[in-house]
Amino acid sequence: MPTPKLILAPGRERSLQRRHPWVFASAVARAEGSPQPGDTVDIHSARGEFLASAAYSHPSQIRARVWSWNQDEEIDAAFIHRRLAAAIASRRALNLPSNGMRLVHAESDGLPGIVVDQYGGALVLQCLSWGAERWREPLADALMELCQPDVIFERSDADIRELEGLPPRVGTLRGAQPAEPLLVTEAGLQFEVDLAGGHKTGFYLDQRANRMLASSLAAGRQVLDCFSYTGGFATHMLRGGAAGVTLVDDSAAALELAARNLQRNQLPADKAEFIDGDAFQVLRRFRDSGRQFDMVVLDPPKFAPTRATAERAARGYKDINLLALKLLRPGGLLLTFSCSGGVDAALFQKIVAGAALDAGIDARILGRMSQGADHPVALNFPEGEYLKGLLIEV
Ligand code: SAH
Repeated sequence: MPTPKLILAPGRERSLQRRHPWVFASAVARAEGSPQPGDTVDIHSARGEFLASAAYSHPSQIRARVWSWNQDEEIDAAFIHRRLAAAIASRRALNLPSNGMRLVHAESDGLPGIVVDQYGGALVLQCLSWGAERWREPLADALMELCQPDVIFERSDADIRELEGLPPRVGTLRGAQPAEPLLVTEAGLQFEVDLAGGHKTGFYLDQRANRMLASSLAAGRQVLDCFSYTGGFATHMLRGGAAGVTLVDDSAAALELAARNLQRNQLPADKAEFIDGDAFQVLRRFRDSGRQFDMVVLDPPKFAPTRATAERAARGYKDINLLALKLLRPGGLLLTFSCSGGVDAALFQKIVAGAALDAGIDARILGRMSQGADHPVALNFPEGEYLKGLLIEV
């Protein structure tokens, strides 16, 4: 049976010629051969030239995601195996100070819609598009062969699956989960990871280098870890010699895990304060009561998944950054992050600058932060860059 085709509207081949891996619905003139969601389709220009082979995603506005630019490359289980092997080899070569890492970062590894995270002997697979969904079993087989994990757990429950019209799916795909809690070691610290119930795939692997930076700056400082989740930053900062840490999160379960993580690493419990509450309100309360810190980490959830929601998100970012800046003593440090795809680094810097201006505080940038090297950004796919951070001194 011939491979179904998507024929683009005239002139709409340009972004594919620049090797951007997405085909938007608006660029497609017609489909030939009745492709079904997840099927491999050949993308042709209006003039009939082959541009790429791609995974068809019917309900999504991203109508197809490119597998290969090479007309002779068959999209089959061997292809999936090859791409996975290449991604995994590139991670192993990084010599990260952790047994937890992102093995596959979707489009930036030539595997659109596919994320694989490793936590020691456990792998977590996320299938986020129809193409990923179609190749789920071959993905699991190849991962078993390449990594020999104890378990492959599936966390295909990210919101973006809704845009594909795919229902959420969570559960064990291969092997079995060990009875004891799953631990990830990061720069000599141990963290418990909740595969089934944690955020994302269980842990924020993308912040590893930034947690290590925070640790190196924390000595003797009274620190606030705002949006702490399971205490990644707080644990590193206490080990780095922080005088005390205050953790704020609105998830009681995350804070419980944070307390266990401190204990597991023999860090002094009496130096930690846990506040279960809305960060916006807690920061305001601190401001009103004149509470001060020497260092604040602000690592909020995604306020703006897309550019369309950027404006509302900007207000949220400005609000918390303004409040955080006001809590800092002179010489204090703010590590502030945004993981919103809709807010780029330039806009984020503008928002933080606006917050400092409104707070009447002179501040400067000491450093810029991003996602770790195991979350690479393909040059033809700038959307792969989502995490940005600023290290600010007041
Ligand atoms: N810094 C963490 C990751 C933070 S993820 C790490 O390195 O592991 C963002 C966290 O913000 C989540 O734990 C979520 O529960 C929390 N959160 C989301 N909205 C919140 C709010 N309004 N107030 C307080 N916490 C919130």
